[in-house]
Amino acid sequence: MFVLEYKLRGKKSQFLAIDEAIRTVQFVRNKCLRFWEDSKGIGQKDIYKHVTALRKEFSFVKDLNSTACQQACERTWTAILKFYTNCKNNVPGKKGYPKYSKRTRSVEFKKSGWKLNRDTKRITFTDGKNIGELKLIGSRDLYYFQEWQIQRVRIVRRADGYFVQLMLKLDPRDITPQLEPTKKCVAIDVGLKYFYCDSNGQTVECPKYYRKSEKRLNKLNRRKSRKFRKGQKQSHNYIKARKKYAKRHLKVSRQREELAKEKALRLIQSNDLVAYEDLKVKNLVRNKKLAKSINDAAWSQLRKWIEYFGLKYGRLTVAVPPHYTTSDCPSCGKRVKKSLSTRSHVCDCGIPVLDRDYAASLNILKKATIGHIGSWSNEILDLNAWGDSTSILTRERPAVERRVASPRAFRVGSNACKGKLSQ
Ligand SMILES: [Zn+2]
Repeated sequence: MFVLEYKLRGKKSQFLAIDEAIRTVQFVRNKCLRFWEDSKGIGQKDIYKHVTALRKEFSFVKDLNSTACQQACERTWTAILKFYTNCKNNVPGKKGYPKYSKRTRSVEFKKSGWKLNRDTKRITFTDGKNIGELKLIGSRDLYYFQEWQIQRVRIVRRADGYFVQLMLKLDPRDITPQLEPTKKCVAIDVGLKYFYCDSNGQTVECPKYYRKSEKRLNKLNRRKSRKFRKGQKQSHNYIKARKKYAKRHLKVSRQREELAKEKALRLIQSNDLVAYEDLKVKNLVRNKKLAKSINDAAWSQLRKWIEYFGLKYGRLTVAVPPHYTTSDCPSCGKRVKKSLSTRSHVCDCGIPVLDRDYAASLNILKKATIGHIGSWSNEILDLNAWGDSTSILTRERPAVERRVASPRAFRVGSNACKGKLSQ
């Protein structure tokens, strides 16, 4: 799935109509969830039937396009299924019991309910919510794909406006000129002191966008809280302050995403193989002292984009297990224990004193190429040999497990889909 995103321009009344549609989606979702909770042992079909009943009962649900209704119901069902699977597999920790949504921000249409005019760059929504015709703002050309390739159309509300996402059935490799082999490979070690350090000894500074904006964010947050009225309808000024606060957060997250995208693209373009640690960021974030810094460092975003560009440009991306990458000696393999504050790697095997992160990246590179020794460089040149697999998970054993990459961004309906994959 390939996502094209445009900002929408329209009248205030049109945006109010979009809000109404989004509210209806939330209503349908929550009604479906309640139906599931109230009745025992129901399946997907029963929920679909329930939606049909809802459409008969409430006229505002009937006004919403039927595929958008269906989509809302499908989302609920996905959440329920995920909960069931987690319970079945006995996933440690919380099982993800489906929640009632309070702040739905999007409405998704399938193949009907909208009409795209590619000449004038306008989209018209034709269901009973009277959204009407909206102009698409964005530089991306609408002519390099066929109309049938549009699988879904989604309207998203953000702090700074309304956006439309066209989800295309399109392989990014088909529209990308393949790059010449560079015969270089690189490993990166992400850190908190640096954004990452690569195996060529180069470091990229951590921009710390959140830390830099924290003061301003806190100020805006205080201003918002001061205007909050408990138990009453919120004032106009409160809503304004809330919007400002949300906009600032949006800015920080966009800055972060842009940096990750830019660095990932550069890494992929100048190397045939990019190796990185297979970090479980979710678990690391549980460390409360480091959580803010780790989230601010955007490791997962970097990985997501490396995997995406790797697929797009036909480069190899390898995730290695993160164990002992910081402690092992890249030269002799001896385990040298370090605390978090030890910044350098010293070993008695005669290797010069290395920076800690640099040593780690050398280890990652070593792990990534284990089992390929002597052959991996040939395989890189013959990229077709890998077929679809762009992310290989190496084990400690020489055996290499190949895994078809499914960067989260490509899965329909996942959160990552909201990320703009239009680079
Ligand atoms: Zn050593």
